[in-house]
Amino acid sequence: MNLLLIQPPALKPSEPPLGLAILLGHLRRQGVVADAIDANLDACLYLLDDQRLASVLGPTPTTALHRARRHAPRALAALRGTTATGTPDRYESAVRDLNRLLGCWGEEGELLTLGDYRHGNLSPFKPDDLQRLAHGEATTLFASYFRDQLLPRVAALAPRCIALSINYLHQALPAFELAGLLRRQFPHVQLVAGGGLITSWQGVLQDRPPFPFDQLIFGPGEAPLAALAGSPGASDELNFDPDFSFAHLNDYLSPAPVLPLSASRGCYWQRCLFCPEAATPVHPYAAVPRAGLPGLLRSLAENYGVKHLHLTDNAIPMNALRALSSAKEQLSGLHWYGFVRFEAALLDRSFVQDLADSGCSLLQLGLESGSQAVLDRLGKGIDLNTAARILENLHAAGIATYVYIMLGTPGETEADAVLTRDFLQQHAPHIDYLNLAIMNLPRASELLDAPARHGIVGAELCAADSPLSLYRRFQPSGAWNRASARRFLDRELLGTPAIRAIVKRTPPLFTSSHAFFFPPPTRI
Ligand code: SF4
Repeated sequence: MNLLLIQPPALKPSEPPLGLAILLGHLRRQGVVADAIDANLDACLYLLDDQRLASVLGPTPTTALHRARRHAPRALAALRGTTATGTPDRYESAVRDLNRLLGCWGEEGELLTLGDYRHGNLSPFKPDDLQRLAHGEATTLFASYFRDQLLPRVAALAPRCIALSINYLHQALPAFELAGLLRRQFPHVQLVAGGGLITSWQGVLQDRPPFPFDQLIFGPGEAPLAALAGSPGASDELNFDPDFSFAHLNDYLSPAPVLPLSASRGCYWQRCLFCPEAATPVHPYAAVPRAGLPGLLRSLAENYGVKHLHLTDNAIPMNALRALSSAKEQLSGLHWYGFVRFEAALLDRSFVQDLADSGCSLLQLGLESGSQAVLDRLGKGIDLNTAARILENLHAAGIATYVYIMLGTPGETEADAVLTRDFLQQHAPHIDYLNLAIMNLPRASELLDAPARHGIVGAELCAADSPLSLYRRFQPSGAWNRASARRFLDRELLGTPAIRAIVKRTPPLFTSSHAFFFPPPTRI
């Protein structure tokens, strides 16, 4: 085999990784003999295996762990079916049981859940910690999975080149441990890494030796990987047509199999001052030609026997939404969801109804604030009156709304936070799910270009000894800071019954991946 793509843990195991499928599709079309392994799902199932749990728990587990182990098959079945959707208690207990069991594996503050992974002694922001893992001087709870299951599988495939796809922080520590193991067991194999996280670290990593990797790929991986695999036809063209033949779709923890795809890469707006996509885009913006999108959804559904699709765009472009809305017959029987901006076109009720009729079940919308002044300062391009009417339109058409709020942005005051609370309270009947967060300031945020204008007195990397940190601490010019925003969120937002009710019904950990399958609560 020329090239093997691997998705290292740890991520939510709810759908197969799009990045791997996009690269695999491209490589195979270039004539490269390639395959892919979702080591994230594999590792999760390995760690939840009953016999392995028995040996980790020992002969006298606590009552809670004993019960969780007994319930594990039922919990897995509940998250892979629809018995728990719309039944919050059953759903939460399935998630809790599996998290308890995954939590048995860690040592020294190391903790794995279905949506998170952290290590008490090692930081993904410290190159020295990544190197300790790569050299085998430290380990993670994934070590036995890597050693006993993944490495023998890699050996059997005998690839000439292995590429790790590292997109999220939770992958960094296990990925470097895995890379070290691969380096030592297969010293002559070409070992490379790429993905969103590696690209975000380009400024720091490009001047360092790439060990344990032979090469790091920054930005889109199609052309560099095809070239590495010796494809004579390697081109810079981006691929949007994924190949999921490597994925065992029924094993993912999803009420029904879901396939991810994207109508675009990058973001067509790129103007939100707090957003890394605006300051340092991982991908230059590119989109699927409008006419081809409905056919892509239909062919994925037919080729893999699925009915549910996830558009993973940062913001689905309007052209793509128009293409989907005008392909109702072609998309009949399919369901899809994704992120959109509060675009004025969504004020058109018949357009929104067409979207619903084309299978749109849920839309994620980044509102961030209920204060017009904050939105204007952040460059969101959102008018609050328009946003309110769009939420109403989507609700009327039967499309569930998943709204994202971010408190603690630079320049925000308590009065702005009160406006956010009032907006959410007033429009709660049209908001189905809610994500409430406190802002992290990206290290390259455009807000730092003119800090004083944006209410920032000073900013520093989150820790001086963490050069890979993605965020900066900042000192706001006023008295309102992250701690005040956190208190307001806990007391005022969650203290408002209508808002608390929305947060309570929002699926924990799997969030939008499972909310997609929940019956829209405001319409029960
Ligand atoms: S917040 Fe969303 S819409 Fe704004 S620039 Fe970032 S990705 Fe684009």
